[in-house]
Amino acid sequence: MKQVKIDQDECIGCEACVELCPDIFAFDDKQTKAYVTTPEGGDQACIEEAVASCPVSCISNEEE
Ligand code: SF4
Repeated sequence: MKQVKIDQDECIGCEACVELCPDIFAFDDKQTKAYVTTPEGGDQACIEEAVASCPVSCISNEEE
């Protein structure tokens, strides 16, 4: 099963992933970083788009 993860050390808080897939990602205003609300995923097309859109490539969606 695929797991969605964000490497928060790398996240620059651009919010692109949150805007693309609000069902999967949310924004932590205190840390100014995104986090995953639904690690088991959902709309794979949306997640793939978010992975591709992240400017620092810190989102992964890998088989565990
Ligand atoms: Fe962070 Fe990448 Fe999401 Fe931007 S797209 S908020 S850098 S995880």
